[in-house]
Amino acid sequence: MNSSEALVVKDLTVEYALKSRTGRIQSRARAVDNVSFSIATGETLALVGESGSGKSSIANAIMRLVEPSVGSITVAGREVTSLSGRDLRESRRDYQMIFQDPFESIDPRRTVLDTVMESLIVSGIGETDAHRRERALAALESVGLTPAPKVGERFAHQLSGGQRQRVAIAAAMVLQPKLLVADEPVSMLDVSLRAGILRLMQKLGSDLDVACLFITHDLSLAWMYADRIAVLYLGRIVEEGAPADIIGNPKHPYTQALVSVIPIPERVNKTERTILTGEIPDSSHIPQGCRFHTRCPLYRALGEPASCRDSDPSLSGRAIHRVACHHSTEE
Ligand code: SF4
Repeated sequence: MNSSEALVVKDLTVEYALKSRTGRIQSRARAVDNVSFSIATGETLALVGESGSGKSSIANAIMRLVEPSVGSITVAGREVTSLSGRDLRESRRDYQMIFQDPFESIDPRRTVLDTVMESLIVSGIGETDAHRRERALAALESVGLTPAPKVGERFAHQLSGGQRQRVAIAAAMVLQPKLLVADEPVSMLDVSLRAGILRLMQKLGSDLDVACLFITHDLSLAWMYADRIAVLYLGRIVEEGAPADIIGNPKHPYTQALVSVIPIPERVNKTERTILTGEIPDSSHIPQGCRFHTRCPLYRALGEPASCRDSDPSLSGRAIHRVACHHSTEE
């Protein structure tokens, strides 16, 4: 592993057992299927996909909220999939999660200052309350909640959604993590507040060298705030590259469809919009061959070639821009 990599995910598979009412396993849903990627120190990788693509399962596996079926996850050089008990608790300082709903992620009975100090107490950091208080106030200032002593006295119900998300970010950042896993961190916020939160995360990442896995269904946010984008479809990464490549020169038909409908000047095919037909299939019924072939416009345009039904393509291409499609150069 490269020492500058904050996160390395290798061959990750996450399966869920689907049970009958009597508790018998009837089938298995493969939410994440053999996914590998890495994030460098201080880098933000956006994992983009629609609902059901497996992006939250990847986040939950990294946080050990679900157990991976196969694969390994390494954070700041430490393989965390095999840790348990005290070692696992200690390792958690290095990777912190920002949840989608700032209204649920903060205990309404605690003050803001107590919420941030609680992170330190749980992780066994700080010799005295005074020391922890000092660190917590500094964390509140770093996320723009000023004057920190005054904001620190408030309770969650006295804060806006954006302020609550800043408290959640402060409670994560006070531990000086190496990696933030942000699962749709602005999707429940008012549109006017989203840019402020994402700019804050971007600034903290570059100032403090914290890597970020930014999970979103919104490709335009990924384009604006990430250093790299990985597009996920039905549990697999189908395209990965720099935002300029993904938006300006998308190669996978799925990415092309996503790009064709976002309202930004850089997108290609400005007049043509590709509206995909059908829903993303259920992860307990992944199509044979290329998993996208049931919705793929290129597959139909090429006369439904057998190669698309025979094998699921893996990512290939230049290391900086990779695509999983047998025919991506044949448009
Ligand atoms: S391999 Fe075939 S079905 Fe899959 S994305 Fe490429 S053209 Fe479409």
